[in-house]
Amino acid sequence: MARYIFITGGVVSSLGKGLASAALGALLQARGYSVRLRKLDPYLNVDPGTMSPFEHGEVYVTDDGAETDLDLGHYERFTGVPTSKDDNITTGQIYSNILRKEREGGYLGKTLQVIPHVTDAIKEFVLHGNEDVDFVLCEIGGTVGDIEGLPFFEAIRQLGNELPRFDTVFIHVTLLPYIKTAGELKTKPTQHSVKELRSIGIQPDILLCRSDSEISADERAKLARFCNVRSEAIIPAYDAASIYDVPLEYHKHGLDDEVLAAFNLQEDVRKPDLTPWQQISDCIHNPEGKVTIAIVGKYTGMKDAYKSLTEALVHGGIANRIKVELDWISSEIFESENPSPHLEHAHGILIPGGFGERGAEGKINAIKFARERKIPCFGICYGMQLSVIEAARNLANIPNAASSEFSENGAPIVGLMTEWTKDNEKQSRSKQGDLGGTMRLGAYPAHLDADSLINKIYGAPSIEERHRHRYEVNMDYKEKLEEVGLKFSGSSPDGLLPETVEYPDHPWFIGVQYHPELKSQPLNPHPLFASFIEAAVEQSRLV
Ligand code: GLN
Repeated sequence: MARYIFITGGVVSSLGKGLASAALGALLQARGYSVRLRKLDPYLNVDPGTMSPFEHGEVYVTDDGAETDLDLGHYERFTGVPTSKDDNITTGQIYSNILRKEREGGYLGKTLQVIPHVTDAIKEFVLHGNEDVDFVLCEIGGTVGDIEGLPFFEAIRQLGNELPRFDTVFIHVTLLPYIKTAGELKTKPTQHSVKELRSIGIQPDILLCRSDSEISADERAKLARFCNVRSEAIIPAYDAASIYDVPLEYHKHGLDDEVLAAFNLQEDVRKPDLTPWQQISDCIHNPEGKVTIAIVGKYTGMKDAYKSLTEALVHGGIANRIKVELDWISSEIFESENPSPHLEHAHGILIPGGFGERGAEGKINAIKFARERKIPCFGICYGMQLSVIEAARNLANIPNAASSEFSENGAPIVGLMTEWTKDNEKQSRSKQGDLGGTMRLGAYPAHLDADSLINKIYGAPSIEERHRHRYEVNMDYKEKLEEVGLKFSGSSPDGLLPETVEYPDHPWFIGVQYHPELKSQPLNPHPLFASFIEAAVEQSRLV
């Protein structure tokens, strides 16, 4: 039977609870346990799919096509366990399910209330489908005390009593701010946060304390006394040089031992095998060289919008034992300025996914520069679509080439997808349809041409990658574009939707309609990122 670890946060948001949960998951796996991670998000949106990346950061897409919180990306990267729509829920989803059931007459006669109806729905979500796992780690989004969070805290409080003794553990992640003028770390915010948690009936078993300076024995004793937590269960979470050091750091400070002790599993003397994490840490801290990758995007001021992408580039670096430095460039610059001074130092140029008109022309100019100067160039999703538009305009002599996403009157090189097949079923969309959850989402197979670079990189003719797009390159232009050198190297199995493009006469220029970054992991870097960084290393030798 599964045991449950509930991870809550206090003091401030953005403490890295997701990362903490993921790293703990990796530590439990290193001891031979199986884990599953889930995220409960108290906000009212049904999912983050329609939220701006500026607001919410990256939307992480699962194989089964759920648009989820970016913490699920951390979970997959650290544990390698694929997440699904069953691993992320929001208040919006819970209420829409309850209200649908109410309209269908599912609660006839009953008055619907937060307790028990909403809390029961949350508990059901937490508990279902865990038959085969040893530990379920459940992270509650937001900070204790948030109004939206209350039903979630109440639900996990109830689970603490309803599940067998020693089957639940509560970890509270907090911050110990350092006050320079006093020269002290302050425990008071944590004391208040734990007080808040206890006032709703949850006594944390473990405190995971974020801090940028050493937590002294005195401070530990104070926290233990005022927060009613054992002193050995106060675990420092110091800022780490790399997120991939975090499992090792937590282990060093005894987190996994303390978690097992809280479950009364201290007699389990299995020692964790942390060799893979040590190897990664070694690669990151002792690289044999470095490359600079320019990311030309729209949300460059909000790095979380590209979380999986930046991590996948780090993984590409790990695969080559190379440090990857990122140069974030807002594509809008290239609408008025020559790309050359901004891009000529780059050893690789990456055009990430994106939406809408703003910055699109700038990306097209950056792509033209990378193509002409033969700098390795990787176009992802919108990046691939814009690469095709660039080729149409500048090589195939279609000056008004455009996407119907940003131009009604241009030549529709990229157009709205109205029909496609998913698991042998036809999917239809129209311009007037809902925006939420209606893109071509999740894992779809693609076939790669035998004589393509991309086939060689994957070492396989068939792949499956995750998608998130509403528009698609128009096959009608394939022949014309291939004549001028842009090869359509991969497509959906029915041959109707282009999935990958490349220039055989360029050292490394690949565009993909999907998001390979979502499946890259430090212990298993994605081949496209490994190959892109390898090409960037080659480029760095030339300049
Ligand atoms: N905006 C494009 C589309 O909807 C690309 C999406 C993306 O890059 N994720 O097709």
